[in-house]
Amino acid sequence: MPTRPIRQVPGVYHRRVGDIVVTVLNDGFQDAPMTSVVNIPQDEAVAMMRAAFRPVPRRTAVQAFLIHSADRLALVDAGCGPAKPTVGKLPANLAAAGIRPEEIDTVLMTHLHPDHFGGLRDATGAAAFPRAELHIAAEEYDYWHSDEAAAAETDKARRKSFFGGARASLAAYEGRIRTFSGEAEVFPGVTSLPLPGHTPGHSGYMVESAGERLLIWGDIIHVPEVQVPRPEACMAVDVLPTLGIETRRAIFERAARERLTVAGMHLHFPALANLRQEGDSFLLLPEAWSSADLADGAT
Ligand SMILES: [Zn+2]
Repeated sequence: MPTRPIRQVPGVYHRRVGDIVVTVLNDGFQDAPMTSVVNIPQDEAVAMMRAAFRPVPRRTAVQAFLIHSADRLALVDAGCGPAKPTVGKLPANLAAAGIRPEEIDTVLMTHLHPDHFGGLRDATGAAAFPRAELHIAAEEYDYWHSDEAAAAETDKARRKSFFGGARASLAAYEGRIRTFSGEAEVFPGVTSLPLPGHTPGHSGYMVESAGERLLIWGDIIHVPEVQVPRPEACMAVDVLPTLGIETRRAIFERAARERLTVAGMHLHFPALANLRQEGDSFLLLPEAWSSADLADGAT
């Protein structure tokens, strides 16, 4: 008699973008109260979750992405890190994808929040990716290293976990940190795209190869069921919420207009989707899972 399953098999999904392969790596999920969704009446936000058959409090997926290009193996964000109950699955999923941490030569950060930098260090506090160069927007680096910004954070626990955590995580990569500004080619096939608001230097990464494109858009949304139809809905942790709304609308419009596929850290696995604009609102259309082989010439 086969044993009844008690846990999922690995959360790994490969997606070709021209000659590049992007691998979605699930890090787990986090439950958080709906009060973390702001600038929309609570009862409306909760009703939208219920109408979408989603749990309340909200269950938010956490993903990271690998970019396999001709000459780079890059990890985009690092998940929440070790020793947390429902997250921290990135190392196991990386192993399931057949990748050893020391093979990763590049880490690209969308921004410095704990669910993105937590996995930069292992349980001993050492760099989890010992050979990687770490790329981040200069504005993002500067904000989290600003004593003035840290002093302005009145919540002491958050100051420690956000500012302290960001600084300690990056310190493990000292001498290997590269900053960029605006739209910059990080390496062939990958260009940074400023998407500020959630944090001051929040950035996406456009992956482009052989006429195909995929935008890894970081934390443009955390609760798709609410923030796609109502882009004005913000997260309580947004550093610059008004700018964040502008950025969200603009990138939604662009993705819809250009039929651009997007990948998001907090979209549901495998976290790839398209958007359609309907007046002032938008619709998220998750990409269908594909079992097709990824080799050249495969059908
Ligand atoms: Zn996040």
